[in-house]
Amino acid sequence: MQTYPIPMVPGPVKLPQAVLNAYQTNYGSADLEPEFLELHHKTESNLQMILGTKNRIVIQSGEGMLALWSALKSCLFPGDRVLAVATGVFGDGIGDMASSMGAEVKKISRPYDETISDMSEIEAAIVKFKPKMITVVHCETPSGTLNPIAELGRLKHRYKTPLLYVDAVSSAGGSPVLCDEWHVDLCLGGSQKCLSSLPDMAFLSVSDTAWEVVRQVDYVGYDALKPFHNAPAEHYFPYTPNWHGVASLNAGTELILNEGLDDSFARHEGVAAFCRKKLNEMGLSLFPALDAEPSPTVTAVKMPHGFTWPEFDATLRQHGLVVGGSFGPLAGKVFRLGHMGTQADMELVGRALGVIEKVIA
Ligand SMILES: *Cc1c(COP(=O)(O)O)cnc(C)c1O
Repeated sequence: MQTYPIPMVPGPVKLPQAVLNAYQTNYGSADLEPEFLELHHKTESNLQMILGTKNRIVIQSGEGMLALWSALKSCLFPGDRVLAVATGVFGDGIGDMASSMGAEVKKISRPYDETISDMSEIEAAIVKFKPKMITVVHCETPSGTLNPIAELGRLKHRYKTPLLYVDAVSSAGGSPVLCDEWHVDLCLGGSQKCLSSLPDMAFLSVSDTAWEVVRQVDYVGYDALKPFHNAPAEHYFPYTPNWHGVASLNAGTELILNEGLDDSFARHEGVAAFCRKKLNEMGLSLFPALDAEPSPTVTAVKMPHGFTWPEFDATLRQHGLVVGGSFGPLAGKVFRLGHMGTQADMELVGRALGVIEKVIA
């Protein structure tokens, strides 16, 4: 198998030894052993700290997308109103997902290099459209931007919108996520980004209001939230939990909490600032607009002149570096450095930037 010494893809990230070790055990059946419940409980409380919430955390076997679908399907009836605030590929996609299940979706879309700025437009939409749910993405990974969720949360609270749905898949652990302070009802996360684990676990915080809605909607399906309400208390999960996956997710959360959340945020911020500064010095242009908040976990850069994405990607790989391309309308125009989790490492990012500098010279 071809491996690369300088992995910079914005997920899945390079796995730390503690996460790999968590996979090296013949665990028993998670359905039978009380020890699994202890691990589950510990992982849930670690994730509560990382998401800044006292709300229950549901841990599911699957990738981050599972949590995104699960929360929508479990909380929406056809015809329910959803205000989708979109500043990128994921924000627009979540609106489309809600439409696909029959929700009445109103989108407030910004160009993908911007972050939420005009709160008055959103406020007017909340007042007029009266959504049941507002959806938004914290870190738009394909754009390398970070949206201000606190202000949206204040509006949600003021106008008593029942549900605020926040995709924090690529920010949780690398940037402050304060669900309770921001009035977030459904906060979605995944294992393979800042938590430096495998792409096999999804998790989400569920507020009391959201549980009440889940009960009313009573959605039944493999991705349903409802059976998780009593699952840990009754030791009766809707399917066999992935013990290896929970153990490695737990190891990822422990690494961050042992480092200290604030230290982890500072590490991500420091590496991101260094990365942006060096790229600017090389004459490359960052993708986010000047007044848009760049994400501390991923940097999106405009393709250097004279390269197509396949050529650039192939040349970087010859030098041992793998970066991310981008998606949707940004495909071929933007490349990305994922400095999240284990990859928020000054030395690693320094080597990556060294390769880029050599290749574009
Ligand atoms: C990665 C990502 C997802 C999806 O996670 P997968 O693990 O790839 O399913 C969702 N939202 C955002 C913002 C992401 O960066």
